[in-house]
Amino acid sequence: MTIASRDFRELRLDGVSRGFGALNALKDVTLTIQRGEFITLLGPSGCGKSTALNCVAGLLPLTGGSIWLDDRRLDQLRPEDRGFGMVFQNYALFPHMNVRKNVGFGLAMRNESKADIDRKVEDALNVVRLSAQGGKLPGQLSGGQQQRVAIARAIVIEPPLVLMDEPLSNLDAKLRLEMRAEIRRIHQYLGSATIYVTHDQDEALSLADRIVVLRDGTIRQVGTPAELYSRPAHADVAEFMGYRNIIRTEANPGSNGWVNVGIGGAEIAGTPLEGVQRGRAIAAIRPEDLSPVGNGPIVARVETAEYRGRDFYGTARTEDGTELYFRSEQNAAVGEVLHLGADPARVLVYADTAASRPAELAPNGIAA
Ligand code: ATP
Repeated sequence: MTIASRDFRELRLDGVSRGFGALNALKDVTLTIQRGEFITLLGPSGCGKSTALNCVAGLLPLTGGSIWLDDRRLDQLRPEDRGFGMVFQNYALFPHMNVRKNVGFGLAMRNESKADIDRKVEDALNVVRLSAQGGKLPGQLSGGQQQRVAIARAIVIEPPLVLMDEPLSNLDAKLRLEMRAEIRRIHQYLGSATIYVTHDQDEALSLADRIVVLRDGTIRQVGTPAELYSRPAHADVAEFMGYRNIIRTEANPGSNGWVNVGIGGAEIAGTPLEGVQRGRAIAAIRPEDLSPVGNGPIVARVETAEYRGRDFYGTARTEDGTELYFRSEQNAAVGEVLHLGADPARVLVYADTAASRPAELAPNGIAA
């Protein structure tokens, strides 16, 4: 018997841990996912994303903690008894079975009647817009179509939860964009919950209701895409969310609640986070928020510049050797000297602690 039912309130991971020998791949992860939510697990390679997903799926037993669907404990159940739909990066289709048979496989294993299987398979193929391809073999389909078959196979069992592990990684950039929209549409249509693993922040920002950022097997931050984009809670999360300027510096109290930080020999105002007021700090600025302005305090010479259609992105170096990523609406030529500035609201200043420091920043502050 499976517990598959979309009629649930929440899935809860309660202090979930998973070790591999001496390695703690997942450490005491607690997370609640509401029905209807689209959650992405985001983080660098090896941070424990797939391990977390496989623990929820039942493919990996836990070494600590528990998993609950409302008040039913799941972590002792076999994967097939949890009734979750899974979609993997490599599609995992049966090559000798046509699309209909692939999609209906799970239902056939449950001994459902042929009439029910036919009806549900047709419904699922409709949802992924593949009704016309039902008689084809996977090898006769494009990568995007094969991934749609895998999605149809995951949703045909009407799962409370759909688990996706980097499902778009094997597709080219254009198809990835199209499939993102499809996945979002399918999720909204189904009304179940989705946990989606990715290391691509754009994918996470565009798909998720909430993003869970993992590092070294622990949750660093949970938030909406807007929160993660504009207000990462820690410097390492900022770095992962595209704040390419991550600068070791010193903070001092400034006016209007800002803190002042030194960057490339200049002093600029920033937003204090983690309660930082003075002392060792890390400033984080997106390239698009650091631009040439009339009286920009940071003087830097352009080393690289590339045209991106509407503006220029590049790197510039200050006299003290700090490399900065900037954006310019005007032509920026290599060798040119720029006067860069940033809105203090977009200069995030964090305490410089071992826990918050991005991995690339060695303890001495020199980028590895
Ligand atoms: P990626 O994006 O590269 O897939 P990930 O964030 O999904 O990374 P996991 O696959 O969850 O990371 O792995 C987390 C850690 O656990 C890594 O250090 C990995 O080497 C280790 N690990 C995963 N599976 C096993 C296993 N079966 N045996 C031993 N170590 C493992």
